[in-house]
Amino acid sequence: MSPGAETMPCARLLLSSVAPPWQHAVARRQGLTANDVLTFLDPAPGVDVDFDTARSTHGEVALAYAWAQARDVTIARLGLIANLSRPWMLATVGWHVTGCSLGGQCSVEFVPSWTHSSDRHRDVLPEPVNRRLQWQLATSGLDHAHVATTAHGQLAENYVAFPDEPVIELLVTTATAVWQCRERRPD
Ligand SMILES: [Zn+2]
Repeated sequence: MSPGAETMPCARLLLSSVAPPWQHAVARRQGLTANDVLTFLDPAPGVDVDFDTARSTHGEVALAYAWAQARDVTIARLGLIANLSRPWMLATVGWHVTGCSLGGQCSVEFVPSWTHSSDRHRDVLPEPVNRRLQWQLATSGLDHAHVATTAHGQLAENYVAFPDEPVIELLVTTATAVWQCRERRPD
């Protein structure tokens, strides 16, 4: 088990990211992931990145350690996590980060660069990606989440998402209603 998994504020590791994809697919059926929850919301405009089913690229480990070294932080692989008080809240988290200068514990995802609709949006996370990170933050209890984009095998841009309570409330309220419905459904 990675060291980060034992110290997450309100979640535990269900399945390491190095487990085979089929095990992740089975484990995700034990609850609701960001993919499940976003299905029930209006589509948000902008680029989307599916953390649940994205497969790590071959060079991700090297990029992750380069990212960590540049910030003097420690990183550990995570995977599928479950919230402690609501064990049906599941999220896929790439890496757990400790020692971040922004304070507290955080996570980081490495994803391919997206095309910006304009320079105005260059510093802002696309809303679908933000919603996925807010679900991660709600599930894990981590203080914030980083996204590093990659292009041509190199680190490109960096983004940070802090908990956005109105978005988290929308996601958790929606997910709770969906999950209660599913629980009531006879087998
Ligand atoms: Zn951080």
